[in-house]
Amino acid sequence: MEVKTSLLDNMIGVGDMVLLEPLNEDSFINNLKKRFDHNEVYTYIGSVVISINPYRSLPIYTPEKVEEYRNRNFYELSPHIFALSDEAYRSLRDQDKDQCILITGESGAGKTEASKLVMSYVAAVCGKGAEVNQVKEQLLQSNPVLEAFGNAKTVRNDNSSRFGKYMDIEFDFKGDPLGGVISNYLLEKSRVVKQPRGERNFHIFYQILSGASEDFLCKCCPCEICELTGIDQSVLERAFSFRTVEAKQEKVSTTLNVAQAYYARDALAKNLYSRLFSWLVTRINESIKAQTKVRKKVMGVLDIYGFEIFEDNSFEQFIINYCNEKLQQIFIELTLKEEQEEYIREGIEWTHIEYFNNAIICDLIENNQTGILAMLDEECLRPGTVTDDTFLEKLNQVCATHQHFESRMSKCSRFLNDTSLPHSCFRIQHYAGKVMYQVEGFVDKNNDLLYRDLSQAMWKANHSLIKALFPEGNPAKINLKRPPTAGSQFKASVATLMKNLQTKNPNYIRCIKPNDKKAAHIFNDALVCHQIRYLGLLENVRVRRAGYAFRQAYEPCLERYKMLCKQTWPHWRGPARAGVEVLFNELEIPEEEFSFGRSKIFIRNPRTLFKLEDLRKQR
Ligand code: ATP
Ligand code: MG
Repeated sequence: MEVKTSLLDNMIGVGDMVLLEPLNEDSFINNLKKRFDHNEVYTYIGSVVISINPYRSLPIYTPEKVEEYRNRNFYELSPHIFALSDEAYRSLRDQDKDQCILITGESGAGKTEASKLVMSYVAAVCGKGAEVNQVKEQLLQSNPVLEAFGNAKTVRNDNSSRFGKYMDIEFDFKGDPLGGVISNYLLEKSRVVKQPRGERNFHIFYQILSGASEDFLCKCCPCEICELTGIDQSVLERAFSFRTVEAKQEKVSTTLNVAQAYYARDALAKNLYSRLFSWLVTRINESIKAQTKVRKKVMGVLDIYGFEIFEDNSFEQFIINYCNEKLQQIFIELTLKEEQEEYIREGIEWTHIEYFNNAIICDLIENNQTGILAMLDEECLRPGTVTDDTFLEKLNQVCATHQHFESRMSKCSRFLNDTSLPHSCFRIQHYAGKVMYQVEGFVDKNNDLLYRDLSQAMWKANHSLIKALFPEGNPAKINLKRPPTAGSQFKASVATLMKNLQTKNPNYIRCIKPNDKKAAHIFNDALVCHQIRYLGLLENVRVRRAGYAFRQAYEPCLERYKMLCKQTWPHWRGPARAGVEVLFNELEIPEEEFSFGRSKIFIRNPRTLFKLEDLRKQR
């Protein structure tokens, strides 16, 4: 009898790290390297897919490959992102379990490409017919539009996503696509007015310039930033030169100096662009929205900025890294912790595995009273003179003794003599490494206020879209309540996202960047080592190995394999667990290969599963 064990036979290196022997950091990296050198860019840790960016196009995403992976068991073929996509899609369709695909990794590691591969695979295997094809086309075509407006060339990635994206793809009971909903997170709007050295503005600006006719460009250039927006020149001029403050029914206008006027100009440009981006997402959502109210099955795909450590880290990096801490939390909760807890629940013998739980760092950032975001908000809302320094002072009072917080300002600081930490900075020891944040700009970016003079000027525009983007500029609708701060908005949207993800069955793609040069064929051991450490991949393997590669509740297990045994076929009268015992006994599966939990059978090695599957096929 031939048993298909592709993960073991004819394999470059080891396809599933769970089967790696011996297991240590060196062997882990060597295995990845060996496979990478042979164009095997995917490797499993159980059901988690590690993906290494090849930085060149490999012939592994063809329609033939799609056919190869379609309806096959996860472990049957060599590791591939299509296997994960197929597994997720089939459990959604056949077992009615909502899925989410969580793609993580640093900038340039291949997250966005991975998300597109998942989407195109699912589009290729789900549903048929003109109507369904139109839905698929619309879902897929939303990508280039969003990338044009939300991606830019950076030093790390020529097509770096400067916003976070989560897309729910919705299916009917048959598994045919119905539509989708996109959520966007924190666009890096400062890029519109200023780009770091060697980087570019959002792609769309260059695309317009290279795509437009000469005629259009000639006409366009002398056009005033007023004619395009349909705003009266004098109105805009006034808005850039004065600031009106209303207090106790009195209006006071002060003249802005040059720096303040530039600031107002930049604030307007940033606001205009980010509101336009959100409007675009809303428009896309309107067109891809499912046209039916029937109950939907959902597959969520999350492609969100990876952990960022730059030379200068500001509010944006702080927010992005906070989001990554939360994702790591979900990963810990759903895989490591859940795995251990399941064994305990099921009464299976278990040796405890130590792993770092980053809940303490999430708390440092998001605690409602003492978290950094809460203190930033408190400072922003406090009357009186508020500056970045007063914010830092406050942090020092509250966080000085926190294990993951470092600064030199407070007298009791452990870092008083650490000259690598400037006085204007604080450092957080994130799960992925230490990051030093410059406080300059935190208060301002968190406030994210647009002077009312500017929103009122924009609301006066003749251009209906621009008018609609600044509803608060309508004098009839003056709302003296402060809009929520950028930090609190982000925290709320991350909390909603986490809640959403927790209701779904997670599928992980952990993307790794092999080098800093955006180059093919180069595998930098140190760089990869850093990533596998902070992604906690070795711990992930240890947890998997300590246990069982596969588990299934007794009922579906018996249902699937009862045909292999005379005593259980066609009907087994008695508890499902007893039926599975009889079945495994008759098939002579070695005892050390499985354990009986309270509600599930646990199978140690994927090989046992292949054997069962093959026997089924032979019937
Ligand atoms: P960021 O966080 O900056 O958005 P990212 O993780 O989304 O980064 P991608 O944009 O997906 O990174 O990948 C960067 C580049 O690497 C791609 O533009 C492409 O050139 C290359 N790349 C990524 N994945 C693959 C792949 N599977 N095959 C070939 N090239 C790839
Ligand atoms: Mg990206």
